[in-house]
Amino acid sequence: MAVDDCLDDLPVTQLKGVGEKIALKLKRLGIVSIADILFHLPFRYEDRSKVVAIGALKVGEACLFEGQVELAEVVYRGRRSLLVRLSDGTGFITLRFFHFSKNQQLAMQRGQWLRCFGDIKSYSKSHSIEVVHPEYQLIAESKRGQAEEGMLAVYPVTEGLHQLSFRKLIKQAFSLMEQGLTVRDCLPQSVLDEKGLPTLQDSLRRLHFPQTMPAHEARKTPALKRFIFEELLAHHVSLSRLKQGVRYHKAPPFRSEENRKKQFLNSLGFKLTAAQNRVMSDISSDLVQAQPMQRLLQGDVGSGKTVVAACAALMATEAGYQVAMMVPTELLAEQHYKNFRTWLKDTNVQVDWLVGQHKGKVYSAIADDIAEGRSNIVIGTHALFQEKVSFAKLGLVIIDEQHRFGVHQRLALRDKGASKGIYPHQLIMTATPIPRTLAMLGYADLDLSIIDELPPGRTPVSTAVLPISKKDQIIARIKKGVEDGRQVYWVCTLVEESEALQCQAAEVAVELLRDALPMLKIGLVHGRMQADEKQKEMEQFKQQRLDILVATTVIEVGVDVPNASLMVIENAERLGLAQLHQLRGRVGRGQRESHCVLMYKPPLSKNANERLSIMRETTDGFKIAEKDMQLRGPGELLGQRQAGFMQFKVADIERDAEILEDVAHCAEAILQKQPELVEPLVHRWVSNSVEYAQV
Ligand code: ADP
Ligand code: MG
Repeated sequence: MAVDDCLDDLPVTQLKGVGEKIALKLKRLGIVSIADILFHLPFRYEDRSKVVAIGALKVGEACLFEGQVELAEVVYRGRRSLLVRLSDGTGFITLRFFHFSKNQQLAMQRGQWLRCFGDIKSYSKSHSIEVVHPEYQLIAESKRGQAEEGMLAVYPVTEGLHQLSFRKLIKQAFSLMEQGLTVRDCLPQSVLDEKGLPTLQDSLRRLHFPQTMPAHEARKTPALKRFIFEELLAHHVSLSRLKQGVRYHKAPPFRSEENRKKQFLNSLGFKLTAAQNRVMSDISSDLVQAQPMQRLLQGDVGSGKTVVAACAALMATEAGYQVAMMVPTELLAEQHYKNFRTWLKDTNVQVDWLVGQHKGKVYSAIADDIAEGRSNIVIGTHALFQEKVSFAKLGLVIIDEQHRFGVHQRLALRDKGASKGIYPHQLIMTATPIPRTLAMLGYADLDLSIIDELPPGRTPVSTAVLPISKKDQIIARIKKGVEDGRQVYWVCTLVEESEALQCQAAEVAVELLRDALPMLKIGLVHGRMQADEKQKEMEQFKQQRLDILVATTVIEVGVDVPNASLMVIENAERLGLAQLHQLRGRVGRGQRESHCVLMYKPPLSKNANERLSIMRETTDGFKIAEKDMQLRGPGELLGQRQAGFMQFKVADIERDAEILEDVAHCAEAILQKQPELVEPLVHRWVSNSVEYAQV
């Protein structure tokens, strides 16, 4: 190693004690170069600077404490263990060891002083505290209170790589830096000056070896601020670069005749809203390009996304290309299939649907039609991207309710249509608003269009929150509603993932309702029914031959029966906000005022109470999503798989929202003026974001 070497270019194997084996383990943490070690930041610190009196120890904290052995005994309660009772005059604590040697046991003489560090726990009702397998050392009484270690950084490590070994690597890397070897600074000096951020070396030192315990809000120390900024910037430039990269892919331009589109729109029986028109023109101008459209269409539940999708599909078929539309449930696939068939009945477009229930001959017939190009539009569930299904000439992929799918699935379907460097266009639809913060990060690789207006004549759903004890009242209300010509959804939910239990609950609810309302016609759909039974029941409801439809959450997404105007949701307290909003979106689709009753079983947790309150206060999907994000964090909101690519090491997109605007400006400047910084930045902070690397 020479003094003017850059640590970014030196492999970890140049460090003492790092051979092939350790190098492999480090690689699993994303660490390849010596600089990578320095950027593997601690996720917490242990305060070893002061000894805490046993009486002042708090459950849940990791502390340094000292005490004198009062009693040490081996007990056999379930498992052989060594219990050591310590006291320092202010209180007692028990140390518990499951693995211990004879020597260890013998050293725990009554009267011996120990210095220990560990997580304070309490398992018993008597509030006695204990520590399982603490780190400890025997000390002389005269050495009490003389802790010397200060703040200790704790790193995320992997199996077979100990904190201690990792700390040694950090120390080695630092001493190389002190000898003058450099680490590449990916932030331009001008940015550091402008924002008053510390230099790279300085920041690293403060994070790995802090002088005092960084308090929680001190996540905002200048050192950390610097890295938060850097990390968000890295994500931003990486996403922008992806967006640009996609532009180099080719896609088939659809030149379609305006006439056919007009004809189609005229046949609908309603006029598109201004928002739908605006979005439609975004899409039209994308589809005539020879680059793939990558558009996210966001519109609240009931805003009329389906018809926009149909219009886009028509453009593709006009140009001689096939369309694949992926939806999350069979019920929804069938509904779209029927709608598309009705809308396109005067054209020669062949619409098909493909879901799990299609087997044997039926399946092969559809698959053949798709493979040979007879089928123009195919609507289906994930059955669509099975390997067996191949398209003759796929030109447009539409994904409905994208929050139900992962990035992988979306890309898999897109790749189905790719041939010889030509990719299909993509239209991705969602009712879940992308939180402002994520949008500011240049959300994924997508352009955004928003339908911010509902079709005319809708009155917002009014929502009541009632305890289960008011069930009789609710049933009376249903009776009155039906007499007024309303149709009713009764939704049974259970938080357990068991579909069987959910279906059982629905069956019970049907019985109860039939008993209470013998004069009404009550139907049932749940996930365990045969697909054709489900469809029959849905159709009956749609044709108004049923008054009440008892359903599990299978009806959560997409289902459209405009005459249904009353919904009761059982156990509403157990559902998340996104799900409640989706479910409630099944009503309020017609002209008359709709109602939703959220029934809950007391007592309500604070969080559940907040969820139900916001549902009562607003029907605005955007407000609901923001609240959801507050209550749950951004990751979950986007669905696990999508959150995967936005895993931050130091940044927290909600907490750090205030700097996103700055980050965006800085990203633009870098992309334009210092593009050479992009690669190192992305490499340093985002290199683990797997699937996006291949877009
Ligand atoms: P979502 O955006 O939730 O998918 P849908 O596409 O299911 O909404 O549309 C909800 C309902 O509104 C459907 O019955 C649809 O036919 C109807 N609709 C869509 N656009 C309009 C419009 N411009 N005017 C009147 N009704 C519309
Ligand atoms: Mg929809």
